[in-house]
Amino acid sequence: ATPTALMVASGRGAQLGIFLKGHHALDASREIDTIVFDKTGTITRGELTVVGTFVSAGHDADDVLATAAAVEVASEHAVAKAIVDATTADARPEVHEFVADAGKGVSGVVDGHRVVVGSPRWVARGIAVPADLARARRDAEEHGRTVVYVAIDGAVCGAIAVSDTVKDSAAPTITELRRLGIRTLMVTGDNAAAAQAVADEVGIDEVLAEVLPSEKVARIERLRGEGRVVAMVGDGINDGPALATADLGLAIGRGTDVAIAAADIILVRNDLGSVVEALGLARATRHTIR
Ligand code: ADP
Ligand code: MG
Repeated sequence: ATPTALMVASGRGAQLGIFLKGHHALDASREIDTIVFDKTGTITRGELTVVGTFVSAGHDADDVLATAAAVEVASEHAVAKAIVDATTADARPEVHEFVADAGKGVSGVVDGHRVVVGSPRWVARGIAVPADLARARRDAEEHGRTVVYVAIDGAVCGAIAVSDTVKDSAAPTITELRRLGIRTLMVTGDNAAAAQAVADEVGIDEVLAEVLPSEKVARIERLRGEGRVVAMVGDGINDGPALATADLGLAIGRGTDVAIAAADIILVRNDLGSVVEALGLARATRHTIR
């Protein structure tokens, strides 16, 4: 892009809450044929709430939820916030030896008991899951919910279902991108059933679910290796490496500092329509300035 083109686009962009970090943002925007979206906080609002707590025989749902919250209070994940918000501070015992595993979950010691909260696959690795909890998990996931398991002293005793809602701007944006001939994908660490439910609701072409943060980068590299010119849209701490790997990185909404640092374009409004507007800025400057 010429310096003039960048100046004009920057001025228009600022009015729309779109900030371009340099020439590269304009040049890459014109070529994009594939857009990869993060799910939580990007396609969805990212404001999760607990909608159900299921426990195995001999356990109390409020106790299991309070025990999980005792560990989650030390985490910044959206699932953690939902679990903490579902409990009151005075019901929450102290946690020791807290450890967070990115893309998997958290663990710690509460009242002398070892507690693990996280993705079912990670929590239940190598241990049996009571049939009623496995069934509750499957039902909730088929309804688009995220489910985490709670294990206490090595036994899975709870399943917590959390729900999020899709942004109003998601479906119209995906429709518009399809009209522009752009292929859309959604990438998430969440379970495949929940991810597919969200993708179906908004019309996204392809879903990459149960992907670890490190694998998100590999998926984008593979798309680029296939000759695609890829934009990545994300908001989270985990999205930084993927934003930096894509041909064009867009940080959206109340994006984290990590996402903002790694991105080429910052979308201040939480509205996904900004993605289409950002691509439009680049196209407009090519037609008007030579
Ligand atoms: P996303 O791609 O939606 O940002 P992450 O990669 O952060 O998801 O996490 C993937 C999965 O790991 C979550 O859906 C959840 O099951 C589990 N997980 C991660 N962090 C936590 C946490 N603090 N508490 C419970 N579960 C967690
Ligand atoms: Mg996110």
